[in-house]
Amino acid sequence: MSQIISFSADKDFAEILEDLIIDSGYQNRSRFLRDAALFFSDVQKRGELMEMKDDEIVEGNLIIYYQHGIEHKILEIRHSNEIDISSYNHSCLKHSHSCVDIMQVLGTASNFRKVIKQLQNTPSVDEVSFISAPMRKDGCC
Ligand SMILES: [Zn+2]
Repeated sequence: MSQIISFSADKDFAEILEDLIIDSGYQNRSRFLRDAALFFSDVQKRGELMEMKDDEIVEGNLIIYYQHGIEHKILEIRHSNEIDISSYNHSCLKHSHSCVDIMQVLGTASNFRKVIKQLQNTPSVDEVSFISAPMRKDGCC
């Protein structure tokens, strides 16, 4: 069940908002505003991963784009006790000429920072990103 929530903004912002929504690939304004509010709230509460308290528990998806040949480095991370990996997926992206590993991960902010730094300093790793799960007080799981 949905509920209509309205807010006011100046005309300049209203025009920028439409561009932000389109540029972000959203087709639904309500969904964009909902996701933006959840993301902003989470950042305000816990900060970005790089600024979080060391013992803050974080959960989400770790995405690593790389070139073949460093799978053993990723295997070392998967077998370490630094982070807890509940699922793992490897794909070869033929159009992008890149491999991508996506892991569902749980761990402390300090351990995440350590693992991300380690990956960023590994040759043949093209990009590392982490998408934190939005924190809810309760929900389906
Ligand atoms: Zn591959």
